[in-house]
Amino acid sequence: MAKKKVATKLEREHLSKVASLGCLVCQRPANVHHIRPVGLGMGMRSSHYQTIPLCREHHQGQFSIHNCKQEFEAMYGTEHEMLQKTLKEIENIEEANNFFNYNKGENND
Ligand SMILES: [Zn+2]
Ligand SMILES: [Zn+2]
Repeated sequence: MAKKKVATKLEREHLSKVASLGCLVCQRPANVHHIRPVGLGMGMRSSHYQTIPLCREHHQGQFSIHNCKQEFEAMYGTEHEMLQKTLKEIENIEEANNFFNYNKGENND
């Protein structure tokens, strides 16, 4: 059995960025949901980079990805589509931050 994986600093930073996006469905404050990895055997733990933000209700409530997965995915897209969207949004935020830092650097010269 593999040892329980502890999130590294980078993984923790990523997780907090994911959560900070807010729920993909309703934009309320979110927790991260680890999606099931594609192409890996059953029981493989998904990585901390394969996470999407969902609020408590859409994560584990009555109508949620955990309780009504089929209906949930039919309505809002599959986990993997939501992951792409999440990663794209984080990329956009990081690009904006880099741009900002770059300009700040220029001004300080
Ligand atoms: Zn929600
Ligand atoms: Zn979950």
